[in-house]
Amino acid sequence: MSVLQCTDCESIVESPLPKHRCPSCGGLLEYKPDYERLKEASFKGDFTFWRYQDLLPEVRNPATMREGGTPLHKAERLAKEMNLNRLYLKDETRNPTNSFRDRAAALLVSNALDLDFATMICATNGNLGASLSAYCAKYGIMCHVIIPELVDMGKLAQMLIYDSVIEEYGETVDESIERAEKLAEETGWYQATSELNPLVMEAQKTIAYEVAEQFGVPDWFIVSMGSGGTIYSIWKGFKELHELTRTKKLPRMVGVQAEGCSPIVDDYLKTGRKKSIKPTTHAIGILVANPLQRRLAVRAITESKGLATLTSDQEIFMAEQEVARMEGMFAEPASSGTIAALKKLRSESVIDDNDTVICLITGSGLKATDVLQALSKRRKTAAVGAEFSTKEKILRILEKRDAYGYELWKALGKTMTRSAVYQHLNDLSDRGLASSYLKAGRRYFAITVRGRRILSAIDEIKVIM
Ligand SMILES: [Zn+2]
Repeated sequence: MSVLQCTDCESIVESPLPKHRCPSCGGLLEYKPDYERLKEASFKGDFTFWRYQDLLPEVRNPATMREGGTPLHKAERLAKEMNLNRLYLKDETRNPTNSFRDRAAALLVSNALDLDFATMICATNGNLGASLSAYCAKYGIMCHVIIPELVDMGKLAQMLIYDSVIEEYGETVDESIERAEKLAEETGWYQATSELNPLVMEAQKTIAYEVAEQFGVPDWFIVSMGSGGTIYSIWKGFKELHELTRTKKLPRMVGVQAEGCSPIVDDYLKTGRKKSIKPTTHAIGILVANPLQRRLAVRAITESKGLATLTSDQEIFMAEQEVARMEGMFAEPASSGTIAALKKLRSESVIDDNDTVICLITGSGLKATDVLQALSKRRKTAAVGAEFSTKEKILRILEKRDAYGYELWKALGKTMTRSAVYQHLNDLSDRGLASSYLKAGRRYFAITVRGRRILSAIDEIKVIM
C-alpha cells in the first residue's frame, strides 16, 4: 500500500490506486517518500529508468522499452558562445518514442498491468499521448487519447501509428483534461493523464537521479513549464537525494514559459493574469492555459531559491536553430525555451560564468509541426534566399560592432571574393541599411537604425514561416 500525502493540507491518504485529489481539501496528492525504507534502497542494474525501482512506488511487473538512461550532453560550443564554463543538456530525445514522457508511460503501464486494467485514458497535448500509445501497444492495453485542437503533427502521427483511439476535445489541453477526468469516472478506465496521476511525478523525478549520477548537482537546472508538473518532479527528485544524504547540495530551479502563455510565471511574479488575452504560443507542448500543478511549480522555484522567466516565440525559434547548428541536437520548441532563457539570464548576469547549468531537453524537434513547416519552406526558397542571406549575415555582424571590408570578408569565412563583399556593402549603403566612415585610413561600416529594423523584421518572418 502506497502512502500519498496532500500537497496542501498534508493529510495522509492510503490507496492502492494512484489517486490525485485530497478527500479533505481537494488539493493535489503526491507520493510521500518513506525515508526509513529508502535509506536501504539502492540504485541497481543497467543505467535505465528501472535502475531506480527501489525508490519508486511498488511495481510487480515493470513494463519497459528501455526508457531512461539518457545522455547528458556537454554543450561545449553553446557554452563558449555564452561565455559559460559548463553547460549540459539532458537529452531526453533519446527515449524510445523520443521524449521524456516514456518514463511516465513505463510506470503508468506497469501500474495498470499490476492492477489488471485493460484500458487506459489520457488527455495530452502531445508527448504523453505518443508515449502511452506505444507502451499500451506493446503490452496489449487499449489506449484512449484526448487531444486538443492544437497538437503537434509528429506526436499525432505517433498516436495514430501505435493505433490509439483518438478523440479531439477542446481548444487547449485544459478542456481535454476535464473530458478525460469525466470519462475515466464514467468508464472505470485507468487514468493516465499526467496532471491526474501522481505516479507521473514519481517517474519524472528519475531525471534528477540520473543527473546526480552522471554529473552531480548543478548550480542551476532549467526546465520549461506547461502544467508545472515536470519542474516540481525534478525538484522532488533532488530533494529526496539530499534528504537521503546521497548529494550535498540542491540546484536552483528555473522555470521558463512563453510570453504568450505564462500563467505560472505570472503567479510567481504576482503580476496577475492578463484575462482578456487568449493564450498562444508556437511551443504547443507548453500551451496550458490553467495549469493544475501551477502551485507546485511555484513551490519548486521558491523553495530552491530559483526563478521564473519568459521567452518570446521568436527567441525560442532562434534557440532551437542554435542548439541544432552548434550541438547537433534537434530539440522541440518547448524545450528550446530553456536555452533562450539561459541566454537571457547570462546577458543579465543572473547566472555567473563559473556556474554549472543543466537544461532539460524534453523531446525531439521532429515531433513539432512549426519547425517542420518552417524548414520545408526554407528548402523551397533556398535559391532566392542565398543572396539575401549574405546581406543578412553582414548586417548581423555589424549589429554587434562596426567593421571594415577585410574583417567582414574574414568573418564570412572567406567564402566569396572580396569584391563581392564590397558589392554587398555598397548595396546595403544604397538602401540605407548600412553607413560608412573613415578611421585610421580604413573605411568602417556601421549598421543604421533602418538596418536594425530590417533584422528584427527578418526574425519575425522566420517565426511565422
Ligand atoms: Zn488536502
